[in-house]
Amino acid sequence: MNKAVFLDRDGVITKEPPYYAHRIDQLELIPKSANAIRLLNKSGFKVIVISNQSGVARGYYQEKDIQIYNNEMKRQLKEKDAYIDAIYYCPHYLEAMIKKYRIDCDCRKPKPGMLRQAEKDLNLNLKFSFLIGDKMSDIEAGYRAGCKTILVLTGQGNDELKKSLKMKMKPNYISKDLYTAIQIIKRNNKSKEDNIKPLEW
Ligand SMILES: [Mg+2]
Ligand SMILES: [Zn+2]
Repeated sequence: MNKAVFLDRDGVITKEPPYYAHRIDQLELIPKSANAIRLLNKSGFKVIVISNQSGVARGYYQEKDIQIYNNEMKRQLKEKDAYIDAIYYCPHYLEAMIKKYRIDCDCRKPKPGMLRQAEKDLNLNLKFSFLIGDKMSDIEAGYRAGCKTILVLTGQGNDELKKSLKMKMKPNYISKDLYTAIQIIKRNNKSKEDNIKPLEW
């Protein structure tokens, strides 16, 4: 079985704002995010991007735009020897403009559907996997799938941290950015797997 680190895309790997980024001229990697992903590649974690893309359902852009954007992101990461093993996205939204995408799906975070799909596709052990996101909806999806969770303060992270103070649910860790989050994972990974404590909330 494999271990994975699930990464939200916008505000974790790439800069946000711009919100609903979908053109490659809007794509800018967050500093050191490629280094962070390269470290995960070396540590034997699958790197899996899971992203809500309701911009499709809202009619702001199309699924093919997501593909083009993601391919460019992968190309820029590859230039720095960083690789993503799989990308999942949810194009749905319950109040969508576009009827085709007006679905109460299982994949839109905070639901854990994308993580569950990856669990099957890549033979993952979610208990030994992590989720890194800049929103509490990311954290909730990770929690519901049984992963350890890290809230980063890039993207919408600072506002979401304030929100989390009023919530019962808390991330396992809070970190400045993706690169720092990977240091936490590397430290955590040194301890024997069966010594990893269950989630504390
Ligand atoms: Mg985000
Ligand atoms: Zn969905």
